[in-house]
This record gives sequence, C-alpha cells and structure tokens, in this order.
Amino acid sequence: MVTLLALLTLTSCTVGPGHTIHARQITAAQPTPSAQPTPSASPSPTAKPTPGSPAWYVSQVPTFPEAPPPQPVPLPATGAAQFWHRLPTDQKVAFITIDDGGLARPPGVIDFIWEARIPVTMFLNSPAAAEHTDYFRQIEAVGGVVENHTITHNSLAGRSYDYQKQEICGAADRLEGLFGKRPTLFRPPFGEHDSTTLKAAHDCGAKAVFHWTETVHEGKVRYQTPEKMVQPGDVLLMHFRPALMDDLLAALKAIHRAGLTPALLEQYVR
Ligand SMILES: [Zn+2]
Repeated sequence: MVTLLALLTLTSCTVGPGHTIHARQITAAQPTPSAQPTPSASPSPTAKPTPGSPAWYVSQVPTFPEAPPPQPVPLPATGAAQFWHRLPTDQKVAFITIDDGGLARPPGVIDFIWEARIPVTMFLNSPAAAEHTDYFRQIEAVGGVVENHTITHNSLAGRSYDYQKQEICGAADRLEGLFGKRPTLFRPPFGEHDSTTLKAAHDCGAKAVFHWTETVHEGKVRYQTPEKMVQPGDVLLMHFRPALMDDLLAALKAIHRAGLTPALLEQYVR
C-alpha cells in the first residue's frame, strides 16, 4: 500500500533537482510491492550504526505483526462531523498523527518514514503547508496523508460559525490546491472545539474530527487515558518539532509494547 501510494502520488508531484530521494525509493520498492509494516532495513551484523544516525533510528524500530485488513468504522449521516478521541475499533492498530508544520521539519523524517514504513497522518496549518510544500509532498510520496488543522491555529471553541468555517474551509481549500486532495479529517487547534466546530468541519468536507489519547514530545509518550498503555484505535499526537525522529521512535515502541501495529487512520474511517 505504501508503494502504491508513493507511485500514485509521484505522478502528480513535481520533484525538483536534487530530490533524487524519490527515484531511489521507488527503485528500492519495486522488488517488494506488498505493504509490510516491518522495517526493511536490517543492519549488517558487522556494522553497528552510530547512535542517532539515520540507520540507527531504523535499527531501533521494533518488528510489528502485519496490520489487520481495515474494517472502516462507519460514520452516522448527520449534519455534523463525528468527534473522536480514539477510533472506536477492536482492531489491533493505533494511529500516528503529526501536527502543525510551521516550527520544524527535520529532513531525516522523510527517509525514516519510508525505511521503517511508518503510516502517518499530518494535520497541517495551511500557511506552513504552502511555505514548505515540497517537504510535505515528500512525506506524502512515502505514504503520509495531509489533513486539516486550520489556517491560523487559533482556538475555535466559542467562535461564530462564520469564523470557524473560514478557518476550516479556508485551510481545506488551500490544502486541496497544494496537494490535489481535499482533507477528510480535521483536528482543531489545541483540541478545543464545540458543536459549531463539528458542523463547520462537516460543511467543509470533513468526515471526522480527531482529538488524541497520547501525546509524544522529545521522545516521551504521555498517556491521557487511565490505561497507561496504547489501546486499539488510539491516536498518538506529535508535532513537527526538532525531536520528531525521537517522537516517532517512541510512538512505535509504545505501540509495539501494547501488541498493536501502526496503521493509517484514513483507511479505518469510512
Ligand atoms: Zn496544532
């Protein structure tokens, strides 16, 4: 699936000079077209990667069981988007989400996501997406999906319908223009929302609005649920910050400890 997405995305993706990363990745992908969540790179027994190097990050990723075939959660047909902290599913999957986009964009993340086959959903602010489109397109090309996180990152709770709709639809329009696909999921800044948010998100094309169950920052997972363990359907939140490599690794380890497999959120929402 990752390979398919990569190929599909590439056809609509302008790749500038110096971005040979795509070509190399596609070539590497061709012999193994089936989507394996298991990392492909196994370090040779003689050469141990230097801690903190790109190869080291890949070598630290646990081996996961294959994600179960998605049984998408159906959405009720109402005039409002569904709101979830975690996806209501018993399937043994959890979801990695990365927010914002304006602060930091570690370049190593693109290769890491590809090499370790990490499914990610990116909730982007549209100005950051517009300013750094090439970076996010490269993550898209290795399987990531772009979703909506407003224009200005202001809190929406308590604001008028017109204000919220402008923030959500404005970002959706811009992201659709940049990436060729309208977002179908929305995350309100700071998680702050009200019933107007869910109506406006619906009217802007969002099927569901996601909060989260864990946050990950500087390599540490913080549980916001009583279980203190990743549960099926959980949504892990991290940000485009300098320590994103560590955050991705910490999330993967936490998901693995729980006996789950990381999966792509969009495939589990109908
Ligand atoms: Zn945010």
